[in-house]
Amino acid sequence: MRLDSLWRAVLGIERAVVEDVVFDEDGQVVVVSVRPVARQRGRCGRCRRRCRGYDRGRGGRRRWRGLDLGTVRVFVEAEAPRVDCPVHGVVVAHVPWARHDAGHTRMFDDQVAWLATQTSKSAVTQLMRIAWRTVGAIVRRVCAEVDAVTDRLAGLARVGIDEVSYRKGQKYLTVVVDHDSGNLVWAEPGRDAATVGRFFDALGPDRAGRLTHVSADGAGWITGVVARQAPQAVICADPFHVVSWATDCLDEVRREAWNAARRAAGGTRPVGALAGTRYHASRGTAQTIARSRWALWKNPEDLTVNQTAQLAWIAISSPRLHRAYLLKEGLRHVFKLGGDTGKHALRSWLAWAQRSRINVFVQLGRRIKRHLTAIHATLDHGLTNARIEAANTRIRLITRTAYGFKNPHALIALAMLTLGGYRPPLPGRN
Ligand SMILES: [Zn+2]
Repeated sequence: MRLDSLWRAVLGIERAVVEDVVFDEDGQVVVVSVRPVARQRGRCGRCRRRCRGYDRGRGGRRRWRGLDLGTVRVFVEAEAPRVDCPVHGVVVAHVPWARHDAGHTRMFDDQVAWLATQTSKSAVTQLMRIAWRTVGAIVRRVCAEVDAVTDRLAGLARVGIDEVSYRKGQKYLTVVVDHDSGNLVWAEPGRDAATVGRFFDALGPDRAGRLTHVSADGAGWITGVVARQAPQAVICADPFHVVSWATDCLDEVRREAWNAARRAAGGTRPVGALAGTRYHASRGTAQTIARSRWALWKNPEDLTVNQTAQLAWIAISSPRLHRAYLLKEGLRHVFKLGGDTGKHALRSWLAWAQRSRINVFVQLGRRIKRHLTAIHATLDHGLTNARIEAANTRIRLITRTAYGFKNPHALIALAMLTLGGYRPPLPGRN
């Protein structure tokens, strides 16, 4: 094998000629000088159209970071002339080994994008020796390339529209998930009717007219726009959200019960300051309630032995909290049943909530009645929310990982690469 082909294979570079290879910085860095083959030269960096040359570029030769060779860092070095594109004006000429405006080779970008969708923030930054904001720039580039050749909004019939908080201080994304594939298909910063309007702009009237079901959390700013832009679509209440309303109510009852148990136990007095079984029992109750948060939130089939015991204890020591728990579980059961059975169960549930003497659940009952049409639509059409719920959870996880990206579009790109159904492959593999 000729040395030239060897280096091209190692760097994953095609359509280029290797001119020189030098070791730099005491053998810690390899610099490979290359030039594009004749047919690749003089092309616009953005549209690759063949253009008139403009100049030899600003700042002479340029370097692109490539994938490490073992522990040695690799740079590709070349001229960076500019061309005059009739569409894009004066731009840096296309190079076959890197994306436009990138400081890294295509393979480097691809590996970072793959890692970002698979592993932790610190693993990516340490392994690739780059800053997290550089990861943000890379995932945006890679995602833009996918977007350029992909129509994510093709063939949509049943979608869920939702909001995800990505930073403290009222920063939200509006996201659209395909109920049928489970893929994230659209996301933009904002949480208002205008943002939902932009989704429908991207979709276009023809495809909006083919939507059959739209699920949302019942927020008026979503349903109003849907009713205007896709009047034929059945608006459903996302079961995931309705159950989460009940979980919020349950949590409030839990806090009240915990405070009451603490007061009964003598507030903040140190252990042993008060003798007697009543004290100890209350203290035990307060602790159990404090620790029972997960037990109360979890689905009964997922409970550990310990959590089952916690619930049993709550049933004895705090009947009101236990009633709240059963109300939450009851509502979840309604959506499991679905159809007319589900509707019937919901009627019983509403009556139960109304006479529960737990104020937050009385209010929840009223709230559910306000959204009854949408909830009945959900029960009728059997809209399963398992995928939406999974996507929702994963988007929230990604927003936490992506914390530190200054730009919400980097977060969106990472979410799209991870959940959009077009995961970047590892370079050199299929
Ligand atoms: Zn161009």
